[in-house]
Amino acid sequence: MKRQRNRRIFRWDNFIWLRFRNGLFGMALLFVVSGMLSASVYAQEDGISGEMTDGIEEAESGQIVVVIDPGHGGENLGGEYEDYTEKEMTLIVADSMREELEKYEGITVYMTRDDDRELSLVERCEYAERVNADFLFCLHFNMSGEHTLFGAECWVSAFGENYSKGYSFASVEMDLLQDLGLYSRGIKTRLNDRGIDYYGIIRHSVERDIPCVLIEHCHLDQENDQPFYDHDEKLIEFGILDATAVAKYFHLSSEELNVDYSNYRNVQVDVPANVVSPDRTEPDICMIEVVDQNMSNGEVSVQVSAADYDSGMLYYTYSYDGGQNFSPLQRWQDKSVDTFVFTMQVPPHVVPRIVVNGYNGYDLYTTSNMVSLPSMDYKTAEEIAAQMEGKEALESISQTLVAAKERSRIITREVSIAQVKKPLSFQYFMTVCIVCALLVLGMTISMILILGGRKRKRRRKRKKR
Ligand SMILES: [Zn+2]
Repeated sequence: MKRQRNRRIFRWDNFIWLRFRNGLFGMALLFVVSGMLSASVYAQEDGISGEMTDGIEEAESGQIVVVIDPGHGGENLGGEYEDYTEKEMTLIVADSMREELEKYEGITVYMTRDDDRELSLVERCEYAERVNADFLFCLHFNMSGEHTLFGAECWVSAFGENYSKGYSFASVEMDLLQDLGLYSRGIKTRLNDRGIDYYGIIRHSVERDIPCVLIEHCHLDQENDQPFYDHDEKLIEFGILDATAVAKYFHLSSEELNVDYSNYRNVQVDVPANVVSPDRTEPDICMIEVVDQNMSNGEVSVQVSAADYDSGMLYYTYSYDGGQNFSPLQRWQDKSVDTFVFTMQVPPHVVPRIVVNGYNGYDLYTTSNMVSLPSMDYKTAEEIAAQMEGKEALESISQTLVAAKERSRIITREVSIAQVKKPLSFQYFMTVCIVCALLVLGMTISMILILGGRKRKRRRKRKKR
């Protein structure tokens, strides 16, 4: 319609039309360009651009967005011990965590990797940034140099809101891990030489203003923790546990699971004014006292008093040889108390010199005073067992001897009976016959001689007459 009218104007005055057409074109051009500009500004404000959202489905507005980061991958194996490889374990946990979290309403879940690929720490954090993550959860398993440490721990940023948010989530996570039976090594911060977060994933995440927690589920090189990861089913259980912690922290509900955490109370952690520095000093006190020595079985009861005012007490080890050899690490019995009594077994025939090492939350230890005790000459269970074995052996030998004697007696009797019953041999019969014949012969000769003598006497008597 407008055009027809404009054409009519053209008929009236060419000059006026040209000025009018140029103005209209300019306005249209201005409109299109401004439209394109405003659309691009809008897109940038929303954090989406063609390049950045490649392959990523955008989360619905109002949804909580979390990114799960299965530690390591590709050439980066992570911890390796016996048949266990960390990069494989973290992926199983992450898959299970995502599957469980997707059963909740109001949450969108992303994973930095869902296969065996290598990613840098920066790439992982950039991904979290691209999807507008509200939180980054990094899944790991731990190892220690001497394969002695055990338990679960969470690492959080040492700075501001990232510390308080990290600590608040980690409290939920650690509670669940403890309920599962794992020993808590605490929620901690760690700084590098430059005084910034030591762990790259936390550092790069915090740089992008994304709260991040590094979960070390347990130690994959320690027998105390082994029952928690020795089967894929247990790793899947870890994933469900991690998802539950996230659901609680974000007050989610799930119709499918019939759970509602909307009233869950998170631990309130104040935003620290200063950097939350890690503990770099050994426990402040570690002292022992022997409260009982049982001379008949070698049990020694030791009272330990130890404290660390920065990171608390975590483990203790004991020695009965003055500190040359120590027991494996023991759980601190109750972290809220500084003094407790434990019983140790001292072998016999040694002069016990008792020493205890008390460890703090950062695995630094203080050695206690030494207590020397009199030697105990009791018999160990092994010695008693060996003695019993000896006794039994002796008994069995004497029983064997008695049995052998009895057997030989029976054999002797059988032999004598057999001898009595033995039939006369031909040789024996012949000997008897010869002896008898000789006797008969001898008797005959002597009879002849006697009779011959009597005849000669009678003849001499007849001659005399
Ligand atoms: Zn790791």
